[in-house]
Amino acid sequence: MNHPPAQAPPPATGGEGPWLTESPHATPSTPHDDDPGLPAAILFDRDGTLVEDVPYNGDPALVRLMPTARDAVEAVRAAGIPVGVVSNQSGVARGLLTRARVDAVRRRVEELLGPFTVWAICPHGPGDGCGCRKPAPGLVRAACERLGVPAGRTAVIGDIEADMGAARAAGARGVLVPTPVTRAEEIASAETVAPDLLSAVGLLLGPPKAASRAAAAGATGARPGEGERR
Ligand SMILES: [Mg+2]
Ligand SMILES: [Zn+2]
Repeated sequence: MNHPPAQAPPPATGGEGPWLTESPHATPSTPHDDDPGLPAAILFDRDGTLVEDVPYNGDPALVRLMPTARDAVEAVRAAGIPVGVVSNQSGVARGLLTRARVDAVRRRVEELLGPFTVWAICPHGPGDGCGCRKPAPGLVRAACERLGVPAGRTAVIGDIEADMGAARAAGARGVLVPTPVTRAEEIASAETVAPDLLSAVGLLLGPPKAASRAAAAGATGARPGEGERR
């Protein structure tokens, strides 16, 4: 009758690049230029890295954090470094997930872990020939571009070789945090391996206690006579 003509829905994935979402309350994407030894950004894989890998999960109720995820992400934010997520979600291309479901899971992850400065999601399938599905570099590049940081100063933490390959292809540093499903050859070929997320972040940020001791010593040194207890 008088309904306006229905607009054809856009194709689920066709022709687009990755989905990019920014969280307004996240750590601003200010590169940490006062210490070039620190990464300018740290990007986490989602499934099997930040949260347990539930294949094609679109249900927020099934989101469970991986060990040390909260502490790891908090440590990065505490260092003033923006955190992002780079995630293949081929369930979209397979017709098993919608963007609304992917967004619902993203919101649940942020309820549990706080806001990420950028999310870059590849909705394509392995046969789509996109440039963003890891191990292609597109997700990492898109996230870095959105953050305004060079990929060469960015680290990617993930649980499989595709994450490491994406990091390598983009010129970023990869740190593998294996799970029981990570294959032995993936572990053997990884440039850097850490037993858990907090250790991975520790490798990238350096030892926090030594850093704060050094800062304390520097502060003490500015006031001669008060520094040493002798
Ligand atoms: Mg994974
Ligand atoms: Zn893609």
